[in-house]
Amino acid sequence: MEIISENKPFAYKNQDIGQGRGVYISTYGCQMNVNDSDRMYSLLEMANFTPVDSPLEASVIIINSCSIREKPVHKVYSEVGKYRKLKDANPKLKIGIGGCVGQQEKEKLIKNQPMIDFVFGTDTIDTLPDILNDLILKEESKDDKKNRIVKAGFAHREPYHVETLVRNPGVSTFVNITKGCDNFCTFCVVPFTRGREKSRPKTHVLQDIHTLVKRGVKEVTLLGQNVNSYESECGTSFADLMKTIAKETGIERIRFTTSHPKDFDQYLVDVIAEHQDKICEYIHLPFQSGNSRILERMNRGYTREQYIEKINMIKKTIPNVVLSTDIICGFPGETEADFQDTLSMVREVGYETIFAFMYSQRPNTKAAKFEDQVPDAIKSERLQRLFDAHNTMAFDLAKAYENRILDVLVEKKHDDESVAGNIKFSGRSRQNKLVYFEVPAAHSDLIGRTVNIKITKAYPAVFRGDMVGSIN
Ligand code: SF4
Repeated sequence: MEIISENKPFAYKNQDIGQGRGVYISTYGCQMNVNDSDRMYSLLEMANFTPVDSPLEASVIIINSCSIREKPVHKVYSEVGKYRKLKDANPKLKIGIGGCVGQQEKEKLIKNQPMIDFVFGTDTIDTLPDILNDLILKEESKDDKKNRIVKAGFAHREPYHVETLVRNPGVSTFVNITKGCDNFCTFCVVPFTRGREKSRPKTHVLQDIHTLVKRGVKEVTLLGQNVNSYESECGTSFADLMKTIAKETGIERIRFTTSHPKDFDQYLVDVIAEHQDKICEYIHLPFQSGNSRILERMNRGYTREQYIEKINMIKKTIPNVVLSTDIICGFPGETEADFQDTLSMVREVGYETIFAFMYSQRPNTKAAKFEDQVPDAIKSERLQRLFDAHNTMAFDLAKAYENRILDVLVEKKHDDESVAGNIKFSGRSRQNKLVYFEVPAAHSDLIGRTVNIKITKAYPAVFRGDMVGSIN
């Protein structure tokens, strides 16, 4: 899982004070959080607020923060502190905390930091317009009571009805299909911050994708903490949902994340293989540790051998598959020998990309209470060794793409980097590779088109190439 930070630095000047209904959202976390921020912007736009690019222009600042790793609450307080001068200059400025940190900390945030006006959780995003209107109304009625709002309950019994709201969907966008998780891996805070797993009705997912296709979207990524265990109200499985999307919606490409090895079965792999015209042959399958004893302590529900069996099944059915994974280094009780099992797993499977992190203790989780925590210095040294080992392999795997022709869905035009008479574009291949290429200025309208690119230079994270053949 990729961790993203979307907040941009800003420089405060005395004359800059946000007025009106401008909203600025600072986002930390995984793709789920980025998607939630987009939803917040959409909901607030419908309630007559305006998204702004800088906290300086905002009358509402929201920090949408992740609590998966690294001292998230400290990060939130430190970011709120950065807005002190803005709040002093404009006492009407409202500051709110959302996302997993809001869900987890609730009233504590308000108690500990008087600058925070409201807190909401992952299940109460849709109440944001009401929260802000309440705050504004109370202010206008000159209610003397310090007006602060906390809405961070879980709607455990309510179905997961959440229309996809994307402001500018572009070429590729995300569609939520599940939310929350029932797996309770001992290191993970998600079941506590996102609640129990719920699936969206199949008809709603299909309707969203139909609408997105009409808006020009070519690729969707089906999103959830564990998409493989999707089950609609009428019993449709994840594999069958993908099959229907591939057959009925007119979308050109389908991706999905995140998968869980225990729920990845032969039927799903068959569906991917059968619909490779639409479903990309890129699979992100987190293994977390290469040692079965550690996997058991993590409550992952599979052994090393079972994971490898699944990988072999995938490779046999989809011979051109590209694999990536998530790994935790230094889980409590991990010995050097256990870590060697992780290193050997990376080599044996041949992942083109890995997302690896040092284990960190998260509130409420079982592993946080394990007594055999691994010292930070060892965790960090193992992480570095893991990256070093993977790096050598990743360069070789990338090299094998040189001279191959890949289908690239064009997503971006880079006017600022284009040189005389040429235009630079970038897009993603089916294998999820970021590919840059240049074409004569006559081809100025490639965004949303799929082009054939012959790869001339391939590095692990970025490819370069030349366009060949016709444009689809
Ligand atoms: S499967 Fe495990 S790691 Fe993934 S969200 Fe659920 S509890 Fe967390």
